[in-house]
Amino acid sequence: MAFTNEQHRKRYAEDPAHREHKLAANRVYRIEHRKRLNELWRERWRANAAYRERHALTRIARLYGLSAAQYRRLLAAQKGVCAICKRPPRRRALCVDHCPVTKRVRRLLCDNCNTGLGLFGDDPGRLRAAAAYLVRARRKARRGGRRRRRARRSSA
Ligand SMILES: [Zn+2]
Repeated sequence: MAFTNEQHRKRYAEDPAHREHKLAANRVYRIEHRKRLNELWRERWRANAAYRERHALTRIARLYGLSAAQYRRLLAAQKGVCAICKRPPRRRALCVDHCPVTKRVRRLLCDNCNTGLGLFGDDPGRLRAAAAYLVRARRKARRGGRRRRRARRSSA
């Protein structure tokens, strides 16, 4: 007599010895067919954008407790762009930025902005100091540029 999928699921859920037997058989199968399975998975990853998105959303749910619907709502609220640089993501989807202390989700950021915040230790003071440094350097470069042009004109 053949069992229905529902009967298989029920036995798997309720019979620990059966479940362990199935898991052990799966482990053996994966070891014996590793090369072929890896090729299949690599090809699915390469060719199937929906599969990559599902994988990313599962990871986001596990790491940040953010459901796929919540992620999509955040993305729509930001009009699909990074919350800092306002650019759309390029190769990879926007990252879920979270407070390193409270672990609360903040906004969605592109890879570069997210990495930038991390490299500055998520410290607004250091980020402001870095911005002021760049502004000073650019002003100085502009003044230097003008002086060099004037110097060239007067020597000609
Ligand atoms: Zn950005």
